[in-house]
Amino acid sequence: MSILKAENIYKSYTDTQKRVDVLEGINLSIIPGESLAIVGPSGAGKSTLLHVIGGLDHPDKGRVLLDGKDLYKMNDAERSRVRNQAVGFVFQFYHLLPELTALENVLMPLMVGKNVHGVTPEIEGMAAQRLKEMGLEARLEHKPAQLSGGEQQRVAIARALANDPAILLCDEPTGNLDSRSGDAVIDLLLSSKAKAERTIVIVTHDIQIAKRCGRTVHIKDGVLE
Ligand code: ADP
Repeated sequence: MSILKAENIYKSYTDTQKRVDVLEGINLSIIPGESLAIVGPSGAGKSTLLHVIGGLDHPDKGRVLLDGKDLYKMNDAERSRVRNQAVGFVFQFYHLLPELTALENVLMPLMVGKNVHGVTPEIEGMAAQRLKEMGLEARLEHKPAQLSGGEQQRVAIARALANDPAILLCDEPTGNLDSRSGDAVIDLLLSSKAKAERTIVIVTHDIQIAKRCGRTVHIKDGVLE
C-alpha cells in the first residue's frame, strides 16, 4: 500500500500572456519508508509536483491520496491538520521566520500540532531536542540572520521533523549551500529517515544526491519517466 499516491495530476499556470502546462498526467506511488529522488531540469515542474503531493497546492485535475485519504477532498482546516501531523517540508531557501529564534521556529509547528497556545516546558524540551539532533544545541537563541546557510537549513530540518512526520518532502534542500554543508544536510536527512522509518522525497537536479536515494524518477514534459 502506498503512503502517498498521485493519480493523473494536471496543473497549469496562466499568467497575463499565456498558459503554461506544467504537470500533464503525473502518476506516482510512494511506499512507506522509501527514499525517492525526483530529478529534472529547472522549470520542469519539480517544485509544483512537490507542493501538490504535499497538500500545499491544488491540482487542476487528479487525486492525491495520503494514507488512502484524498487530500483535496478535505476542507482547508482538515488538510492543514493532516499536513502538520504527517508531512514535513524542507525548502531551498529555508523559509524560517526571521523574527524568531531557532528554538521558536521549531516550537511553532509543535504548538500547532499539540494545539497549545503557550510554550510548555514539555514542548520546549522537544524543540531543543530536535535542534540538538541537528548539532545546533549552541544555537537555540540565534535568529536566522545570525546563522550560516547550512545552520539555517538544519533549523529548517529540525522544524520539519518537529511532529515526527511520516513523510519528509524536500525541495532542492542543498541548492543554496556549498558542497560540504550540502553533504551534511543530506546526511542528516537520510539518517533521520533511517532512524524513524520515514518516507523521504527529495527534489533535486543533482544526480549525486539522487544516487543516495533508493529510487529516482525523472520529470520531463509534464510526466514522470
Ligand atoms: P522546477 O521546480 O522544476 O524548477 P517549477 O515547478 O518551479 O519547476 O516551475 C515549473 C514551471 O511553472 C516554470 O515554467 C515556472 O515558471 C512555472 N510556474 C511555477 N509557479 C508558477 C506560478 N505561481 N505562476 C506562474 N507560473 C509558475
